Amino acid sequence: MPLGDSMTDDASAKDKPKTAREHCPECNAERVCDVHGHVYVPWHWEDKQNGYSMNGGVDHSLLQCRGCETVFYLHDSWNDEDLNYWYGPNGETQGEYARTKITYPKPESAAKPVWLDAIGKIDSQLQAILNEMYVARDNEAYILTAVGLRTALDRGTEVLGIDPAKTFAEKLSDLQNGGWIGATEHDILEVITDAGNAAAHRGWAPDSKDIDQLLYAMEVFLQRAFIVGKKALSIKSTIPPKPKRQKVAKTS
Ligand SMILES: [Zn+2]
Repeated sequence: MPLGDSMTDDASAKDKPKTAREHCPECNAERVCDVHGHVYVPWHWEDKQNGYSMNGGVDHSLLQCRGCETVFYLHDSWNDEDLNYWYGPNGETQGEYARTKITYPKPESAAKPVWLDAIGKIDSQLQAILNEMYVARDNEAYILTAVGLRTALDRGTEVLGIDPAKTFAEKLSDLQNGGWIGATEHDILEVITDAGNAAAHRGWAPDSKDIDQLLYAMEVFLQRAFIVGKKALSIKSTIPPKPKRQKVAKTS
């Protein structure tokens, strides 16, 4: 938008078209999107003592990709300190405010499991821990991701009815004895426990491959315990002696 246009005028934002070409986080490419909602919020900051001021604004939009139908939020901001310049046909300097665009979810978050909301209905704290863990993963903060995985495992076992005062080793044994996990899952989850410990106390710095493996193992556990076998959760105070074995197709 040329500088001459009034960016701080609310009215200009209301003339937005019903569609927009924006970056869809699911397709991870520019797509035509339906604009389901939009609000423009201008801001002004002033340092009166030093006679300095700044202006900017944020376009908040709720969009839906016409390709994959994903609904996402777009935070599209500008400020008068950040300008792009070019020369017009008569050599005159022209410019426009640079736009910084962030979508939620971010493109990487498309890897989040679809059943995360279902976990939130069972235990909002577990979902909150998992959400923060995914944010850490998306930002390549792998130590915090490993710690988050361990915290999520701790909370997950508590929701299943295992005494939170028990040690991790005892909790994992309870999971296995209660039929929630098999020997293979037990060993993988033991790695998550160690990974979180090592990252927190021994300076171990996992890479993205390590995290992918741990995350996958954790997701298998969570999906089996809370999504596939969630009917057994009606008994919270005790571990069910032996839930019916669910035949789970191996995904790898
Ligand atoms: Zn899309």
